[in-house]
Amino acid sequence: MKVHLAGSARAFDAGDGQTVLAAARRAGLALPYSCLSGNCGSCKAHVLEGIVSYPYNPPNALSDAERQAGQALLCQAVPQSELTIAIREVEAVANIPLRQLAVKVVAKTRLCDDVIELRLMPPKREPLKYLPGQYLDVLLPEGKRRAFSIASAPRHSDTLDLHVRRVTGGGFTQYVFDELPVGALLRIEAPLGTFVPREGGDRPIILMAGGTGFAPIKAIIEYLFDIGNQRALHLYWGARHENDLYLDVLCRQWQSAQPHLRYTPVLSEASTLERHQYRAGHVHEAVLKDFPDLSRFDVYMSGPPPMIDAGRRSFVAAGLPDDRLYFDSFDYAPDVLAALIRARNG
Ligand SMILES: Cc1cc2nc3c(=O)[nH]c(=O)nc-3n(C[C@H](O)[C@H](O)[C@H](O)COP(=O)(O)OP(=O)(O)OC[C@H]3O[C@@H](n4cnc5c(N)ncnc54)[C@H](O)[C@@H]3O)c2cc1C
Repeated sequence: MKVHLAGSARAFDAGDGQTVLAAARRAGLALPYSCLSGNCGSCKAHVLEGIVSYPYNPPNALSDAERQAGQALLCQAVPQSELTIAIREVEAVANIPLRQLAVKVVAKTRLCDDVIELRLMPPKREPLKYLPGQYLDVLLPEGKRRAFSIASAPRHSDTLDLHVRRVTGGGFTQYVFDELPVGALLRIEAPLGTFVPREGGDRPIILMAGGTGFAPIKAIIEYLFDIGNQRALHLYWGARHENDLYLDVLCRQWQSAQPHLRYTPVLSEASTLERHQYRAGHVHEAVLKDFPDLSRFDVYMSGPPPMIDAGRRSFVAAGLPDDRLYFDSFDYAPDVLAALIRARNG
């Protein structure tokens, strides 16, 4: 089936059962996406002509009203006829090759109770080209894969640094914590995702992280410093307790050294003592309290799906145009989600 991009001469073919996003990626088009599970909504597009179906995961990030208004989630939508869709390409990532490579674990550092930093070294003659904010998939047996954001900006470090949070009952993250030795090789596919810095004139930027959602935000901030950023940066980092702000010292160093950056940590389960030193509550509420009108901002946010959902709903309601809201939602891997859906449906 042919898929046309509205407002451009570009078109590509989708094979039988292939999702629009997979076909676009195969054809070398860089359409926005993040979770690839139908959960986060990054790949939402308008279908101007034609029909799609959803034979895989249900498009959770699409409301009935959005569906009726002709919107579709391209990571799950399979064309049932020739299509014309309206969605903007993320040109910056278009020419970066997607590769599979073996990387060596060269350091493993505990950053806090439930977060480990892994430093991964690509082969010397094959450095990985990527943009700040992108992620990699660790490739596991049986075709499974687990996504982790690259926490280091390109050219900032020889290694690809990950911040891995331990998931209770999680196969790969428990293995990282309990067994993975320094010196081991991991097979990865990278770079992935379109959560990368965009042009924005001199508009101020809000960067909101939840937990290890700090990883891609760190890479983006390092990159902005590298290019001599002059835009105002408002960094909000939400965590449960003080100890979970595992690079709080770095954020405070940034704030002292960089006149454009303001750092606001926010604790969702603050103790009485912590309330004397920190903002308490949900991180997106702190953003809205400080900036009830978001119409002149660009917003980048990354972290757990409930935080992303809350940010999407409330920031757009506060005047943020939705094409200036960029996000990565740390959803479960597609195979886990599929298993959960199978279990739910009996
Ligand atoms: C774009 C992206 C970027 C990400 N970046 C990061 C990052 O930088 N840092 C980070 O820490 N995380 C990140 N994540 C999240 C990370 O990918 C997950 O935490 C990781 O996949 C968990 O893998 P696991 O093998 O440990 O857990 P899994 O084995 O996948 O299990 C996850 C959870 O699901 C439960 N579960 C699994 N199967 C079933 C089932 N059949 N029925 C019921 N429950 C089940 C498990 O018990 C566990 O609670 C990112 C996710 C995405 C999509």
